[in-house]
Amino acid sequence: GGSLAAAPARGLCCSVARASIMPAWQLQSYGGLDALRYNANTPFPIIVYPNEVVVRVHASSLNPIDAAMSRGYGARVLNTMRDPLRMNPRDSELPLVLGRDCSGVIMECGVSVKHFRPGDEVWLALPPWKQGTFAEFVVASANEVAHRPLRLSHEEAASIPYVALTAWSALVTTGGLNNKTARGKRVLILGGSGGVGTFAVQLLKAWGAHVTATCSEDARPLLAGLGADHTLDYRHRDLPERARALSPFDLVLDGVGGSLEQWALRCLRPWTSAKYVTLVTPLLLNADRYGLGDGMVKSGLTLGRRVLSSFYSGVHYRWGFFTPNGPALDDIAELVNNKKIRPVVEKVLPFQDVLKGLHAMERGHARGKTVVTIA
Ligand code: NDP
Repeated sequence: GGSLAAAPARGLCCSVARASIMPAWQLQSYGGLDALRYNANTPFPIIVYPNEVVVRVHASSLNPIDAAMSRGYGARVLNTMRDPLRMNPRDSELPLVLGRDCSGVIMECGVSVKHFRPGDEVWLALPPWKQGTFAEFVVASANEVAHRPLRLSHEEAASIPYVALTAWSALVTTGGLNNKTARGKRVLILGGSGGVGTFAVQLLKAWGAHVTATCSEDARPLLAGLGADHTLDYRHRDLPERARALSPFDLVLDGVGGSLEQWALRCLRPWTSAKYVTLVTPLLLNADRYGLGDGMVKSGLTLGRRVLSSFYSGVHYRWGFFTPNGPALDDIAELVNNKKIRPVVEKVLPFQDVLKGLHAMERGHARGKTVVTIA
């Protein structure tokens, strides 16, 4: 770690001893993964708002968005979130620490933080416009943080927050399912074997839904072990026919995107408020390509067209997005503590191997999550 020194009294936070520099993986430019560097002398992040906390990161997980952001994915929208009035010069967000979630321990609390104290064991997931968790310390808003399930190791806990809150936002906030309404509902998950899919299957099963998931042949035992009632091999030529031969679904969660939509929309039970929620959207890409204004208009038109044509076929079409949500992490911690949900960790890597791990992730075929041990 970095050099430890007593924290100066700043009036804004209560703290324990902290470092002034720390190791972190920083993106130096939008040159892809090759522009990612391990920097042992990264400045320690500081609390700016009174509702923020500093967390010492013990483990963090790899997500496809980390690799995508290294190539500048979403930079236009994310920079607007970082700097709405465009006060800062171009590229001033760099160097950027990647990494969206972690398990760790609270080191400092802003003066208005009531729910946490230094020493609390926590987990969190951050929105992509913030400096990330591939670092020994990270700053988060208290409402992005929750007490972690203590029966898990830091590595196991770190595998959950980002994918869990993506599934939560898609299924609960956008899809309208919860522990009461999900019982007996038929859900089709497109892309069951990755991070989001392995969590979504378990959440839905914990709530009593009937779950069908698509995956490769080799991932079928994994998904059956997580409780999936039915699996479909996505490489099979007759997948659309096989899926449509099943009883119709109340919700489709699409983590794959592309042309699947054309047949998968027709797997829903029409005129019953059935919903298609896709996680693969062109929102950020359109802004990158066409600029913020034109990109938003283009996205609005694309979404509007799909919502309307689905509406006329009797189903609802929605885009789903990861949303930070501390209170949902509390509910998820309870499900983990009650053994309704378990972490699915495929690989644990040392902190030095973040880059190697991201390259491996880009080659595809995730089975659950890759995590890195940081401290
Ligand atoms: P992962 O990389 O963990 O998993 C992807 C999985 O999908 C792999 O197991 C792969 O297995 C499987 N897969 C690939 N193609 C297909 C297919 N045609 N049908 C079924 N399964 C397939 O990704 P995540 O779970 O983290 O994310 C899933 C998707 O959701 C990604 O596209 C991601 O970008 C998106 N996402 C969107 C968010 C948002 O806010 N909108 C937030 C988080 C994720 P195999 O070896 O069999 O190919």
